[in-house]
Amino acid sequence: MTQEIIKKADQVIAKTYNRFPIVIVKGKGCKLWDTQGKKYTDFVAGIAVCNLGHAHPGVSKALSRQADTLFHVSNLYYTIPQIELASWLTEKSFADRVFFCNSGAEANEAAIKLARIYFKEKGENGRYRIISMEHSFHGRTMATLSATGQEKIKKGFEPVLEGFDYVPFNDIGALLSKIGPSTCAVLIEPIQGEGGVCCPDQGYLKAVRQACDQTGTLLIFDEIQTGIGRTGKLFAYEHFDMEPDIMTLAKALANGLPIGAMLAREEVADAFGPGSHASTFGGTPVVTAASLEVVRVLSEENIIDHCKKIGAYFKEKLSWLKDRHEMIEDVRGMGLLLGMKLNIEGDKIVTSCMEKGFLINCIQGNILRFIPPLIIEKKEIDALVVCLDEVLN
Ligand SMILES: *Cc1c(COP(=O)(O)O)cnc(C)c1O
Repeated sequence: MTQEIIKKADQVIAKTYNRFPIVIVKGKGCKLWDTQGKKYTDFVAGIAVCNLGHAHPGVSKALSRQADTLFHVSNLYYTIPQIELASWLTEKSFADRVFFCNSGAEANEAAIKLARIYFKEKGENGRYRIISMEHSFHGRTMATLSATGQEKIKKGFEPVLEGFDYVPFNDIGALLSKIGPSTCAVLIEPIQGEGGVCCPDQGYLKAVRQACDQTGTLLIFDEIQTGIGRTGKLFAYEHFDMEPDIMTLAKALANGLPIGAMLAREEVADAFGPGSHASTFGGTPVVTAASLEVVRVLSEENIIDHCKKIGAYFKEKLSWLKDRHEMIEDVRGMGLLLGMKLNIEGDKIVTSCMEKGFLINCIQGNILRFIPPLIIEKKEIDALVVCLDEVLN
């Protein structure tokens, strides 16, 4: 049966992913099941999306309650879950206003547009360039792939959008020499996710903030992967004693329903007026009602604190593996956004783990990334570590 499903898929689905040959049909907490009834412990969580685990009963209930009441109306009207979610996000962050959309790329599109129009409104017409980082990832739309500092993402789609410059991450000198009178914003992931779980050096992000302040440049944090508790704080910027001007969120914000959000300080957000930007589905009642339950559970059930503690435990275990295996070059990350750099290809390791019932992810060819639901327990981590120890042998 599984083979037939996969054969059908390969005839009708666009070939944009190299999929593993399993068909997943059910999830609960940190577990997933395929069509053969095989059970997996999930250390991918839909790429840092299902932070509360699969089929969370509270989120399902909030979703179906809202679905029975009101699915969707246009943003021409007010709806209550959207207002409540925006209130929660602005209360918990530096930001004063929220623009809702449906994905990470769209949130970054909104941030790029806002940064440009902000200076146009001030009459600074030549100030439109955005500096982003090498090895960054900001999405797959034309503007966001243009912002992305990886050639392989742009290849074949040229010409990319005009107005993007790139500097190496963690190199403040390079940033200072690139910021000029035509720069409107610096766009950065506080921890690079897809680029290889790269953490900022001590003091780097504060220095980026300072460089922006000195030149009147906007600072945009792409927290699409790092946000919503993943790094052991609600937003990663909270680790670094500074604040951005604009922040983008998506992935985990509704635990698996499509949502994106662009948050900004009042003075910056003001540059968007009626008609300047829009999204049909942005902040639609069903998705925002589910997201409200996600953030309620996150704050009331100590999930982020658990993530911080269990993440430290997990990282210690990975470091223990590093001492035992020469092919492990580096262990890094914060909270439950952890990476393990190998000096061999990671594909075979991922496949062997899958055979043993563990889903893990490999990026950049040789970096294993561990991004489980934030509710993962010690015994599940211990079991994965035993598996990795065997596989690496
Ligand atoms: C996943 C991701 C995106 C893109 O989000 P989509 O929802 O796939 O468009 C952008 N930036 C970062 C940091 C991401 O991790």
